[in-house]
Amino acid sequence: MTHRVLAAMIKHETNGFNRTPTTLRDFRDQNFHLGEAIPRVYRGTNLEMGGFLAAAEREGWELIPAVAASATSSGPSTDEAFEALCMPLTNTIRAAGRLDGVLLGLHGSMVTASHDDAEGEILRRVRELVGSDIPVVVTLDPHSNVTPEMAARATAIVAFRTSPHTDQAETAERAAAILARTLRGEVRPRVVLARRPMLTGFDGARTHHAHGPMPDALRRARALEAEDPGVLCVSIHSGFSRSDCRAVGPSVAVTGDGEDPRFRSIAESFMDECWARRGETTERVLSVAEGIAAAREWRPGEKPVVLGDYGDAPGGGAYGDGTAILSALIEAGIPGAVVANIWDPAVAAQAVAAGAGATIRVSLGGKHDPEHGGGPVEGTARVVAVSEGSFVFKGRYGTGTRGHYGPSAALEIGGVTAIVTTKNKGIYDLEQLRIFGIEPTAQSVLAVKCMHGHRAEYEPISSRCLDVDSGGITSGDPLLFPWQRVVRPIWPLDPVEGGTP
Ligand SMILES: [Zn+2]
Repeated sequence: MTHRVLAAMIKHETNGFNRTPTTLRDFRDQNFHLGEAIPRVYRGTNLEMGGFLAAAEREGWELIPAVAASATSSGPSTDEAFEALCMPLTNTIRAAGRLDGVLLGLHGSMVTASHDDAEGEILRRVRELVGSDIPVVVTLDPHSNVTPEMAARATAIVAFRTSPHTDQAETAERAAAILARTLRGEVRPRVVLARRPMLTGFDGARTHHAHGPMPDALRRARALEAEDPGVLCVSIHSGFSRSDCRAVGPSVAVTGDGEDPRFRSIAESFMDECWARRGETTERVLSVAEGIAAAREWRPGEKPVVLGDYGDAPGGGAYGDGTAILSALIEAGIPGAVVANIWDPAVAAQAVAAGAGATIRVSLGGKHDPEHGGGPVEGTARVVAVSEGSFVFKGRYGTGTRGHYGPSAALEIGGVTAIVTTKNKGIYDLEQLRIFGIEPTAQSVLAVKCMHGHRAEYEPISSRCLDVDSGGITSGDPLLFPWQRVVRPIWPLDPVEGGTP
């Protein structure tokens, strides 16, 4: 009998401090694909759906693709957007007839106008239709806030094990392997979840150093999975505090074969370790002044100094129009520095209308939230290049991902080259600069708006790859934010003893 497996991917990392809601148009502009169009778009990509498709072919399943949607992180999604994402999923389940399993690629940090725990709500709707016996296997980003409701409704939870997330398709294949064993009757997966009252943990899921809270926990997770056949997956999540929802924070979900108290003990022991190492980081985030001091040390002939703008990362829901690093680079007068990107549709339109070679007067960036990350940069700019703004990721991160800046330009302002875009996008791939004729390897300083994801492609071409906190709404400083929904007390905002309030 051919197994019939439904697959869907609904992803959004929500930043509760971003005042701009994420709309249906944002999903439609980025990724919103339905039914039979999905295999054409995702086959061969290093995204969860790419992994689901590959696994289904190998297992001989009849895969029923329902919806695949994602949008750049921003404020909570509108109800209209959330319903438009869920409807093709629930409608496809209703129309599918017999289903043997469900594979869901979710983010884990999505918040909507009406749902503080959007993934818990997606799983509730799926369970309501498929019942309690059909396995529903979920993949998550490690920057997920996993709730007890998610754990109760999922048959298995499997998160990525890399940041930058270069194992998205591989994670989907691990999830599909658990589903395959479940369908063959070899295992009966159950999820147990452990949490602590912490805003963040596991060093923000950083894995680009060999040792640290996250790589050490992952090593132990792999060892346990290898030694104990009952441990199907230890899924480790650092949390995403800027969602500012009730369930922010790190967690560990152990998917075990059947019910056994040892799975609870394993999950709790990982969280004990997370608590014990809560202050530990493998990558100190520098101030803007420290980042600029490092940039000044660049000498001709060296690889670029890469400054990741940790505070204004669109991938984490920041506005992407912060100017703190751009202003500092202009002031420092370092030749050959590039800032990618400043999200400013008005200036992008102005530059495209003027054309390459033109000189324009601009008020660039800093318009959404000038108190966080710097206000507009005023001055005269030369239009270096214009582009219609389409690219395909060629590097290891999300290989094959198609992206669109919309009409965009590279401007030279105060001696610094700034890419200015119509749409807000984080920087992950070298193609995102090359479409403007900018060769990343040939620059002195590359200031890119990203927290982790740029490291897959930008760290290897750098002399130094540093994180800089520009003070935007993805800043690592929790004291910058007006927390509203997180449950208090919580570390490090409040005194919390031994991991228990
Ligand atoms: Zn992430």
